[in-house]
Amino acid sequence: MTNLTVEAIELTRLYGGREAVSNVSFNLTQGQVLGFLGPNGAGKSTTMKMLTGNLAPSAGSVKICGIDMIENPKEAKALIGYLPEMRPLYKEFTVDEYLTIAARLHRVASRNIKKAVETAKERCGLTHMSKRLIENLSNGYQQRVGIAQAIIHNPMVVILDEPTVGLDPIQIRDIRTLIREIGTDHSVILSTHILPEVEMVCDHVQIIDKGKLVFNGGIDVLKRQRVGNKLLIGFNNAPAPADLLQIAGVSEAETLENNMMRVRFAENTTPHESIVQAAVKNGWGLYQIAPDQTSLEDVFVQLTYQDAAAVETPVA
Ligand code: ADP
Repeated sequence: MTNLTVEAIELTRLYGGREAVSNVSFNLTQGQVLGFLGPNGAGKSTTMKMLTGNLAPSAGSVKICGIDMIENPKEAKALIGYLPEMRPLYKEFTVDEYLTIAARLHRVASRNIKKAVETAKERCGLTHMSKRLIENLSNGYQQRVGIAQAIIHNPMVVILDEPTVGLDPIQIRDIRTLIREIGTDHSVILSTHILPEVEMVCDHVQIIDKGKLVFNGGIDVLKRQRVGNKLLIGFNNAPAPADLLQIAGVSEAETLENNMMRVRFAENTTPHESIVQAAVKNGWGLYQIAPDQTSLEDVFVQLTYQDAAAVETPVA
């Protein structure tokens, strides 16, 4: 496939005989933003270090735009921009000075450096901060500088470790918008602990637990798990659970507080309309019917506790 940017092939990393990352495979294509999630110690940083060529895998391989990281590390690394959790900023420099150094480190040709600095500043909303010392910038603007250095050489793949940690809500919104923009023409891998962030920014999600992928799929698939097969129904004149169980597809019915009931239904059934019809026919006084959403946190907990056997096939 032509626009395949990252191929992680059966990546394994051992520390002292223990597998920190175990047989992890996935692909990423241009224009995809991948959210990389997992509890602490799950293997996220270890995987990212292998993807960026900072750590050799014990087994498996990484290819960036088809270039093997072990065989051709210089060429492969040139296609990656990386913002580690600890921002690599020299705070005593101005934004212009620092980005010029970053461009040199990323081997941008001398004649192209000025243009590369201008473009990165423009994309990250930093143009008006050009002459400011980095140490005098707010946390959010320092983060923009960190992202600007990661994209200065226009890499195909941008890897961002916890990019919104420690920012205020307005800064978070701005950085998320920026990441989405970057994701339109690069591939972005974003590690985060914040589930709504994944929902807002990513189109693809990967959850790692104890070194193994326990979920690898589209954000839609994750959202579907969230909606589940439950309904929350309000009746002025609530029926007995047994009455609801008469309706085809309803597998469980539970009475809650304030005349509310929770109904579970079997896979591939949609008993919603039958419930409304039964309510009208029997005078149950239906005033509300809505999907009962599991929180993303609950989905995450379910996935990280369930057996790793349920991994979806990677999407090419
Ligand atoms: P995460 O980034 O998801 O928090 P890590 O990739 O940092 O997880 O760690 C995965 C596992 O590997 C953890 O059990 C951690 O203790 C272990 N680990 C990480 N780095 C080292 C190291 N340099 N030496 C030994 N064990 C390590």
